[in-house]
Amino acid sequence: MNLHEYQGKEILSSFGVRIQRGKVATTPAEAVEAAKKLTEETGTGWHVIKAQVHAGGRGKGGGVKLAKNLQDVEKLADDIIGMNLVTPQTSAEGKKVHQVLVAEDVYYPGDSEPEEYYMSVLLNRATGKNMIMYSTEGGMDIEEVAEKTPHLIFKEEVDPLLGLMPFQARKVAFNLGLSGTAFKEMTKFVMALYQAYTKSDSSLFEINPVLKTSDDKILAVDAKVSLDDNALFRHKDYAAMRDKREENPVEVEAKEAGLNYVDLDGNVGCMVNGAGLAMATMDLIKQAGGEPANFLDVGGTADAERVETAFKIILKDPNVKAILVNIFGGIVRCDRVAQGIVDAYKNMGNIEVPIIVRLQGTNADIAKELIDNSGLDVQSAIEFQEAADKVHKVLS
Ligand code: GDP
Ligand code: MN
Repeated sequence: MNLHEYQGKEILSSFGVRIQRGKVATTPAEAVEAAKKLTEETGTGWHVIKAQVHAGGRGKGGGVKLAKNLQDVEKLADDIIGMNLVTPQTSAEGKKVHQVLVAEDVYYPGDSEPEEYYMSVLLNRATGKNMIMYSTEGGMDIEEVAEKTPHLIFKEEVDPLLGLMPFQARKVAFNLGLSGTAFKEMTKFVMALYQAYTKSDSSLFEINPVLKTSDDKILAVDAKVSLDDNALFRHKDYAAMRDKREENPVEVEAKEAGLNYVDLDGNVGCMVNGAGLAMATMDLIKQAGGEPANFLDVGGTADAERVETAFKIILKDPNVKAILVNIFGGIVRCDRVAQGIVDAYKNMGNIEVPIIVRLQGTNADIAKELIDNSGLDVQSAIEFQEAADKVHKVLS
């Protein structure tokens, strides 16, 4: 589950990571109030107004603006709230902004220039260990840095038994070219950041930029946090941070119905039980000359109600030209699934795309008969190849 910047920063701050302080606002009036309060707390009269959407590159899209007084705050909040923010990471339509973060301006000029670094914590899947990835080239597109100047990206792997050791945090600070107060501050920052990552059961922390202010403070100016969905049951407070407006509405509906659904770009909808079979089915569709429109795992109980919900969800996608149901009857009997499909089909009454049903396993032959005798526009198959051929035929 992805979080907004302000939520990610709340988590960081709760583990002692220094952040650019801010308050979230949903109206220009709230933004002005937030700015006034922040000035009392921080002493600075300058603020940045930052669009809160689940997408990076907001600065480039005009979603991060500097306000030098309260009039600016009101005007910029008014401009940004409600806009469709287009960034390099959104679609061409962009993402609607519902709220802004009013944050203290931390780039104050001093005797030295502020420096921006890049830092992330994530799992290195190749080694199975968490790592800290960091670079002196912060504030910009890290993919571009990785491509053009890969030697400027450092990686520090963490031993899962020992956790992050202080010498490793010092190495990070050293490689970033720091000394004196900034060196110590960076060491503290890195240790706290890693604690926050592991204790919050996150799968990604990306802080770009990490800022060194002109008075040698180290702080997180941005925060991209992804939490591990499978660990949310032990973080009720984080689970409550879910913003469904940022998620694919059909995926949200599927999740609420207990279905495992991922929207894809193709033309053949699939309904499958088991993730492994779902992957194989997607291969099958490709082989038959189609492209999967979705990944949908209905799980162990494929009764009429579940099948109907799954059909409804698949049919919300206008690109779907055919549906392939591929179910293995191991625990669930094929004839029960077939009855479920027939009942669901009759119940819905207006399915206009061809459906190919492949049921294999316990009572597969009875299931096939049931489908064939139903009088519905549903084709049955028992073998994998047979199903693929039928999909190919309805597509061509
Ligand atoms: P992103 O564009 O979505 O990654 O959003 P960021 O939070 O990283 O902000 C984008 C850019 O805005 C940063 O790289 C900074 O250069 C700039 N920025 C952020 N906070 C401040 C601030 O307090 N003062 C000033 N002057 N610039 C800021
Ligand atoms: Mn950023």
